[in-house]
Amino acid sequence: MTKLDINDMLTSYDKKNLTIATVCSHSSLQIFNGARKEGFKTIGIAVGEKKKYYDAFPLGKPDEFLTVNNYKDIFKYSNELKEKNAIIIPHGSFVEYLGADNFLKLDIPTFGNRNVLLWESDRNKERVWLEGAGLTMPEEIKNPKDIDKPVIVKYHGAKGGKGFFIAKTYDEFLRRIKKGKPYTIQEFVMGTRYYLHYFYSPIYDDAFKLSKGSLQLLSMDRRDETTIDEVQRLGSIAELEEIGIHPTFVVTGNIPIVMRESLLPKVFDMGAAVVEESLSLFGGIIGSFCLETVVTEELEFKVFEISARIVAGTNPYIFGSPYSELIQPDLSTGRRIAQEIKLAAKKNLLEKILT
Ligand code: AMP
Repeated sequence: MTKLDINDMLTSYDKKNLTIATVCSHSSLQIFNGARKEGFKTIGIAVGEKKKYYDAFPLGKPDEFLTVNNYKDIFKYSNELKEKNAIIIPHGSFVEYLGADNFLKLDIPTFGNRNVLLWESDRNKERVWLEGAGLTMPEEIKNPKDIDKPVIVKYHGAKGGKGFFIAKTYDEFLRRIKKGKPYTIQEFVMGTRYYLHYFYSPIYDDAFKLSKGSLQLLSMDRRDETTIDEVQRLGSIAELEEIGIHPTFVVTGNIPIVMRESLLPKVFDMGAAVVEESLSLFGGIIGSFCLETVVTEELEFKVFEISARIVAGTNPYIFGSPYSELIQPDLSTGRRIAQEIKLAAKKNLLEKILT
């Protein structure tokens, strides 16, 4: 649990002059672009010389750079950032580079509820949360000897699917498993993948109403994962495995997608249940989050993961998605985050959306 008190952190802040800061990676072009559209100044935290690349995108680059030797040095600059009334927008790379413990200790107002990290990063707690919300997750196989159908083996803390592998039998599992690395075995769910991008606001009521605040669906994507997504160019996965070529699950990009409209009520019911459960477990998941799902041929959703902040899958939609366009033209997740901060500042409710 973070011991930081958001009201203390905000006492010195000029709420009419907030700036938006994030690490230059992941979804930062979108975050800076969205903040700019809502009239915020922005700070890009970068290791090494990143300016050159950002100069190539004038509408996505930050107004100023804070160049650090390594990400943990952000702590040394926390006073400087606070003097600039900075609000941190965390994304997946931000949390990864800084490390979860450091992220929880960072003494700068941060968008969203940082305590969600404890529920998201522990696979058992994540299951308690999502199953408690009534969602169906892939079956977990506790004993590898019980593997009697395709499973996916996931190493703990592996980033971007690195090292994950498919096994169909116990023997295959034994051949592939790396000794000494903690892992989880999940049923490999057959179906089509949809990564659903939601936004929950505890302070805005004009969307899909919840017990407190409301929920929006801003977009959805499918991840492009090497080599699994194109390995069939060389032959079937079964054929390739016979000659020792095994597919991998490393994310390289994101593809925009829409879903058949009749599934949208389920999408909202799942998002709503996840938020309601989070409100009772740890005070609520605030802002953007993503449910990573597979839709089976029975049109049922199996949810294999939750990401509790802006995901890179929102990047195809810097200028809006087929869903967000029906909320407001030109609305990205980055821009929606900036709007939330603007609304909270205006209503004097910043402590409801920051930790
Ligand atoms: P994750 O790190 O849990 O997001 O998993 C990385 C990738 O592995 C996902 O994007 C999916 O393509 C795939 N994957 C993960 N879990 C499952 C599952 N239970 N069934 C099928 N594919 C999965």
